[in-house]
Amino acid sequence: MRMPKYETIVIGGGAMGLSVAYNLMKRGREAHVLEGDYLNAGSTGRNVGVLKARNPYAIGNGNEDLVKLAKEGLRLHANFSSETGINTFYRKSGCLIVAKDEEDLKTLNEHHKHFRSLGLDEVQLTPEDIHSRWPYMDPESIISGFYSRSEANAHPFGVVWAYVENIRKMKGTVEKQNKVTKIEKTSNGYKVTAEKGEYEAENVVVACAERSSDLTEQLGYKIPMTPMRKEVLISEPVRPFFGPTVERPSTHFQVTQTMRGEIMGTIDWMEPGYDLVETTSKFLNSFADEIVPIMPVLRNLNIIRQWTGICDRTPDDKPAVGRLDEGLYVTCGYYDYGITMVPAVGRLLAETITSGETSPMLRPFDPLRFS
Ligand SMILES: Cc1cc2nc3c(=O)[nH]c(=O)nc-3n(C[C@H](O)[C@H](O)[C@H](O)COP(=O)(O)OP(=O)(O)OC[C@H]3O[C@@H](n4cnc5c(N)ncnc54)[C@H](O)[C@@H]3O)c2cc1C
Repeated sequence: MRMPKYETIVIGGGAMGLSVAYNLMKRGREAHVLEGDYLNAGSTGRNVGVLKARNPYAIGNGNEDLVKLAKEGLRLHANFSSETGINTFYRKSGCLIVAKDEEDLKTLNEHHKHFRSLGLDEVQLTPEDIHSRWPYMDPESIISGFYSRSEANAHPFGVVWAYVENIRKMKGTVEKQNKVTKIEKTSNGYKVTAEKGEYEAENVVVACAERSSDLTEQLGYKIPMTPMRKEVLISEPVRPFFGPTVERPSTHFQVTQTMRGEIMGTIDWMEPGYDLVETTSKFLNSFADEIVPIMPVLRNLNIIRQWTGICDRTPDDKPAVGRLDEGLYVTCGYYDYGITMVPAVGRLLAETITSGETSPMLRPFDPLRFS
């Protein structure tokens, strides 16, 4: 029996792989997605959905380019529901980064100068300003805040459904529960072996987050990656009262309210690893200790669920995206900021594949820098 042949096979059906497939199909090209698990099994289905341009890893090392990708991602997210006809629960909620002590403030002042120089709209607020805008925040608990009104939220599941529905409308395919085990180079493209069959493709895009290097290394391209684990919790729904997402970078604290009214947040990192079943009571206690002084109104909130996700971290905190070889591409290493960039990266990588020219915005993230 002949192997099914596709112009492009995208391996990994997280938001990133789906965005590449969607953008290829929008350009009239063919794409077939092979997802090894269920949709939303990876970090896309486990994230907090905060869309931010003020990327904390965009300080030094030329990482400023991350801000350009994030800004473009934010711009595209704003229009994504109307573009796709699926509600992604996008909300321009803004984001407030708080300092609770002098050390926090010193770091955030440096970030402030840097973000302003990159053209971001961050403004500094006193505790009194913060309390008068958002009275549920206790001005005694913070010494300053840095606010951006253009940052936003979206529901990651909504983003995935928007891509899948539209890929299907354009007669593309997304195969679930079909894990790829092997990629081989052939005389006219690639042979892809998955659990349910073998395929041929002219182009292969590997979008498997922390598992990407398992496949690219088979062809000689190692992408070093640390699987950083992060816990998230969600509460019962409460009256929608929340203004901006609130963050404190020194403790990796982040809290927001979903469109259904649930309070969702995270704090700290776990030990690196692949175990997604483990969740800890330490996390729950640290989160409560951080949030209650800032928002005493949440003192008696009932938490209904807690989970763990993996953030794919490269040694320089930048993604690895672009061409590895003729017809072979990768997009991974988006750590804990990837949902913001998904619509931008999908578009830029699809342009790179169709034109044969690496898009200038992707050049700083050349995946061959690790080879
Ligand atoms: C707890 C947490 C909170 C986060 N919060 C935010 C946030 O607030 N804002 C933000 O912008 N970003 C956030 N992120 C980061 C964001 O979730 C990711 O950067 C983004 O979703 C990455 O998407 P992806 O498609 O690259 O990866 P994934 O969603 O992990 O998709 C990769 C897919 O590849 C599949 N796969 C793996 N191996 C194979 C194989 N061999 N064959 C076929 N399929 C395979 C996996 O099953 C998976 O579905 C967070 C991440 C975590 C973990």
